[in-house]
Formats: sequence, C-alpha cells, structure tokens
Amino acid sequence: MTLPGAGALEGVGILDATLREGEQAPGVYFEPYVKAAIAGLLDEIGVEVIEAGHPFVDDEIAEAVNCLARRGFRARIAAHARARREDVEAALASGAGFLGIFLCVSPERLRERGLTPATALDQVTAAITLAKERRPGLIVRFTPEDAVRSPVADVAAVAAAAVAAGADIISIADTTGCMIPGGPRSLYDWLSRFRDELQRRNARPRLAVHCHNDRGLALANALDGLRAGASLVDVSVLGLGERAGIVDLAALLAVLVQDFSGNGRWRLEKVAELYRLVSRFSGVPIPVHFPVMGRNAFRHCAGVHSQAALRDPRHYQSLDPAPFGLSPEFSLDHMSGCSALLHALESIAVGDLDPELFTAVLRRVKAIGKKGRTVGRDELGWIVAWEKAQAQGRPVLLTQSA
Ligand SMILES: [Zn+2]
Repeated sequence: MTLPGAGALEGVGILDATLREGEQAPGVYFEPYVKAAIAGLLDEIGVEVIEAGHPFVDDEIAEAVNCLARRGFRARIAAHARARREDVEAALASGAGFLGIFLCVSPERLRERGLTPATALDQVTAAITLAKERRPGLIVRFTPEDAVRSPVADVAAVAAAAVAAGADIISIADTTGCMIPGGPRSLYDWLSRFRDELQRRNARPRLAVHCHNDRGLALANALDGLRAGASLVDVSVLGLGERAGIVDLAALLAVLVQDFSGNGRWRLEKVAELYRLVSRFSGVPIPVHFPVMGRNAFRHCAGVHSQAALRDPRHYQSLDPAPFGLSPEFSLDHMSGCSALLHALESIAVGDLDPELFTAVLRRVKAIGKKGRTVGRDELGWIVAWEKAQAQGRPVLLTQSA
C-alpha cells in the first residue's frame, strides 16, 4: 500500500471524537470535568482536533464544549451541528474554533425527510454561510453523512456548494462501515472519483474520513482514505462510538508513527494513561487482545515464541512497544517453556535451581495454566519456595524468600 510519503504525512492530522462519537456508545457519558481531563491528555498527545460534543443537544454538553474552547489547548475544539440554524447558533455560542456540520444526502434519506438534492444543498450552504459570516476564522467541516452509499456526483455537487459557501474540510463518512479495501466498495476508489468530481467543479477542500468499524475494517478503510488523498482521520479512544465504533486512536498512531515516518509528531507515552482514564469513566474495559493498548498486545506466551522473542522481540513483534512506554512481556502458563521460566526466575532474583526443582516448578506452572490463568511473579516465588521445601521435606513458610 502506498500512503503519502514522510513529507506529505506532515499534513495528516488526527481528529479525536471520543467526547462526541464516544458518548454515542450505549451507556457512555463523561462528566464535564472528566471531559476536561480527557481533552487535556489528547492535547498533550498532539491530536489536531478534539471533537467535544453537539452543543444543541444538551446544556451540560454546551457548557463542556465552552469550557474546553476556553482552555487554550493547541488542539482545535470542535462542535457538532446538524445543518440547521438552531444547531449552528448553539455551536457558535459554545466558542468552538471548529464546526462540523452534517447532513445525509443519500436519495432515500432525502426522500424520507421531504428534501430534494436542491433543498438539501440550500440547507447546507445556509448553515455554512451563517457560521462563516459570524466567525470568519472558524474552521468549518461539512460531512455528507453516509456519503459512500450515495452517488458520487450527488455528494460532490453538495460538497462543492459547501466549499463555495466557505467549508474548509469535507469529511467522507462510511457511516455504516460497509466499505472493503480492494473490494467492490473501496473507499480508495470512491474518494478518488469524488476528488475528480470536486476538481471538475473547482473545489479543492481538505478531505477527512470518518470510518465505522462494523466489518472490523475501519482502520484499513481510513488508510485507504489517506492513500486517496484524505489528510484528516477521525478516531476515538478504544474506537468508542455507535455500534462497533470507529477507528481506534492507538492503532492509528502505531501505524502512522511506525510505518509511515510519523515519529516525533505525537507524544505516544501519554496514550496508555488516556486509555486507562477513558476505560474507567466509560465503563468499557480494554479488551486484553486489543492492538497496542490491550494487556496482551506485547505479551508472548507459547514456548517457541517466548524463546525466540527473548533473544529478539522482533522475531514475534512487528510493532515496537517502547514509544508507548511499554515493553515486551512473557507470561507463564501451560504453554510456557524453559526460556520463559528462566526469564521469570531471573526477574524475581531467583538464581539457578537444580534441574529437578526447576522441572517441578515448571510442571506446577503448566498445571496452573491448564486451570485457565497465568502465574504472576509473586506466585512464582511462592511456588519455588513450596517446591523447594517439598524437596527438602521441611514445612513451608510462604512468607520466606525463595
Ligand atoms: Zn460516526
């Protein structure tokens, strides 16, 4: 896959939507002071835009957006709005420096709402004109919702009108997560055709992508979008959002930094703290096997893997955990072999064990693993003490050092 080169990547930014899209995950709501803490970490990490909420929906959300907008973050604070005067007014009142206006322009949805392509176009341009007249320095993004299931030419017509009215960014939304890289519904192909259509209409906005994860392809589609010329990607912590959510922030960061020369652009060492915070206050656990931030993401288990990865983690890791402040780990369970056990014993300062004792300890570790859990370092010390005492035929004092 070809993405923009290192130079072009400098123009690639991240819009984090944890506080807006993330709150659309069932049962997730962040108190305003939690929003402030999350936004603070996102700003430290270096995302370009923090989408903070839809002020028209609720006074408390409006207040939170307003507080974040006044914090002096480097990141722009974004407010969400339908293409309606009342929504735009509420977003302007929030003081956000970035306004995201959305309207679905698919023929079915327009018919359902009694709109035509022409009236939809009027609605979008009126909303953007109002915003730009009131606040000329405001960055305005127009999102044709469910764009990829709408005819390219129809979307381009509305998008070009939005650009003419002052929109700076057009965000292409795969609202239902239906796109498949390399397949008949490819975001790369769709966006390439869309860009051509816009250029025919003399519109050259910045392009963004908003990819849902219904097929588990959100990140792959977002990368396809970058390849087709988008330069802003919507993400959220843990991928939180409607249904299966959107692109996960940490996974995108890992790819951009380690595979596309984005090193030094983002403070990755703050990401783990952000994930703990969002997981705690969203009530959504971080899945253990989640890429990058999952407990097992850099944890080796099987004997063959551990043996090779202990010599050089790159034998079984293509991502480097160090920039995230993490390091490879070697778990002890029924799959463990001698190398992992030796490593674990060294880590708890247990010197050479005689072969019989070593075998007894390994046998017990494997037996515990078959019960469906791993053996922690403290437990390993107790096992060594126990087996040593058993071998010597003396009582075991579990408080004694191994
Ligand atoms: Zn969405």
